[in-house]
Amino acid sequence: MSFTFFNEFKVARFYAMYSVGEEGLYLPAYKGSTFRGVFGMALKEVACNCPKGSGHEPYCIYAYLFETALSNTEANHLPRPFILEPPNNEEEYYPPGERIWLGFTLLGGAIQYLPIIIYTLKLLGEKGFGKGKHSAKLVQVFSLNLSGSMESIYKIDSPTICNHFSIYTGSEIIEHFLNKNHKINQCTLHFVTPTRLKYNGQYTDYPEFHIVLRSIVRRITSLYYVHHNGEKQSENWALLFETAENIKLIKSAVRWYDWERYSNRQHQRMKMGGIVGQATYVGDLQLFIPWLILGEYVNLGKNATFGLGKIKIILKH
Ligand SMILES: [Zn+2]
Repeated sequence: MSFTFFNEFKVARFYAMYSVGEEGLYLPAYKGSTFRGVFGMALKEVACNCPKGSGHEPYCIYAYLFETALSNTEANHLPRPFILEPPNNEEEYYPPGERIWLGFTLLGGAIQYLPIIIYTLKLLGEKGFGKGKHSAKLVQVFSLNLSGSMESIYKIDSPTICNHFSIYTGSEIIEHFLNKNHKINQCTLHFVTPTRLKYNGQYTDYPEFHIVLRSIVRRITSLYYVHHNGEKQSENWALLFETAENIKLIKSAVRWYDWERYSNRQHQRMKMGGIVGQATYVGDLQLFIPWLILGEYVNLGKNATFGLGKIKIILKH
């Protein structure tokens, strides 16, 4: 099965490498919320020059990237066109000189703003982050190609940002990872970072296949609609989801994992739990594999923008 919009869906992946400054860095176990906060603040400084007190102008790049909205009412439901991928470990202290790797993915309309993102990441390091707001230097930025090899596109000792980096379409990603000659009837899905799947309004710790698929399809189609000037997909998803209910979850080795974060807006600690671990599915998976493969690139569930919901799939022929 192929949808034309897979051809138009665009992804670019990067790694930013920081060197920790002289004071060391103190970060919480869940680093997504730290980066969410400082990235948003730095981006606002870099990319918003709207007049104060009247909301954002239509041309505001900060608003497009960070407060994505088509109209005020939809604001909370629209996906942002980027994903930050902080180090996935619980290390809370980084000594001076240590490297910190921050992965980031740009999607569709955000890709053109790479220079602004790099400038924001540089500023973010200078302003400092974590407890005490200690600084870290943005040393180098790499572009990642489909095979996973990295190419340098920015270095601290040169002002140049290389504009020749890998951008791949959804179709290219799927073709790269899918061997069409083999029928796939088993796959294991690894939930690498806490994945917050909602079904019927509730978070679930039992990742039935159709729930995972619903989440991926919803995310990819709305990223396409909002960030690729795409059309709302009129496909009959109900039929796809119904078929997905035939796929059996034969082994679920997931556990609920609670991150805590402090919300400055709500002045309280918030739980950001999700499932981690792995789940194995059997059935005729052919129809769904393209979605799963692309799911690895866009994360799924709530708070995907800040690194939650990262998945890895292992296919069995
Ligand atoms: Zn603005």
